[in-house]
Amino acid sequence: MDIKDHIRSIPDFPKPGINFYDISTLLRHPDAWQVTMGRMAKAISVWQPDVLAGIESRGFLTAAPLALKLGCGFVMVRKRGKLPGETISYSYDLEYGSDTIEIQADAVKPGQRVVIMDDLLATGGTAQAAVELFRKVGAEVVGVSAIIELTFLNGRSRLDVPVEALVQYD
Ligand code: 5GP
Repeated sequence: MDIKDHIRSIPDFPKPGINFYDISTLLRHPDAWQVTMGRMAKAISVWQPDVLAGIESRGFLTAAPLALKLGCGFVMVRKRGKLPGETISYSYDLEYGSDTIEIQADAVKPGQRVVIMDDLLATGGTAQAAVELFRKVGAEVVGVSAIIELTFLNGRSRLDVPVEALVQYD
């Protein structure tokens, strides 16, 4: 099955000039989603993770079902101010301004093997921020996994951990 057949691109979203790859059509096709999850599980399992960390919000959609499938814990990486209790945060620069992501302070134990998950890897800025956040709490980040990689943005070269993506657009 070609997963690309189930991903649509929407021009000028969220801003003029941006071509947005929409996974809604993949999610609502049970067979295609099952194949996607199976392929991601295969790619990730070689890293022998303890924890799958999903980046808000579409990263939750990949990380949560795969954590169940692989017998891993699932951890939410969220935007600032969304998580209750003590949190650890990491701020990173965007093209205009900056952003902050957080995890709960007790989300992982030092030395646990973590895979960072999202739907799409573009510049790699979000994923790299998540890598740094988990390193701050002593976890070992063993990989980054996404369904889609926008190769022309070179996100992979920004990351110092292995990267797996099922489909590429250039
Ligand atoms: P990056 O930090 O790698 O530049 O951007 C990746 C983040 O932006 C991911 O969290 C991803 O969900 C979101 N994103 C950017 N462009 C797209 C797109 O075309 N489609 C989807 N589904 N997400 C995108």
